[in-house]
Amino acid sequence: MSKESNILLKEIALQNNCPECYSQDGLRLRFFQKHIQNAFFKRLTTETSNVMDCQKCGSTIYPVQWTEDIERVHNYYTKLVKAKKTSFKLTKWGYLLLALPILLAAGIYLFATGTLSF
Ligand SMILES: [Zn+2]
Repeated sequence: MSKESNILLKEIALQNNCPECYSQDGLRLRFFQKHIQNAFFKRLTTETSNVMDCQKCGSTIYPVQWTEDIERVHNYYTKLVKAKKTSFKLTKWGYLLLALPILLAAGIYLFATGTLSF
């Protein structure tokens, strides 16, 4: 079972007019980076996504609604915003899973050599 989540990478307030409510200070562009987590590890992927919405009217602004100006700033920030370095982290269960065969092998070895006996 793994959980995917999007971590906010950058939030930019745009000066463009909202195509929905025409407000000039509501548009924002947010970049996200995909993060995967399950019982054994946490991983930050290189996958990014972005969402544009308006804080004034609450609409999500899809590419079909973009004006030329919006498209221009979107392109600009898409190039500017870089994904964070990917990372990989084991959880304690992940470590345990890795350590288990070693512990098991060590146990068998100690038992076989007679160091350990029941
Ligand atoms: Zn709006």
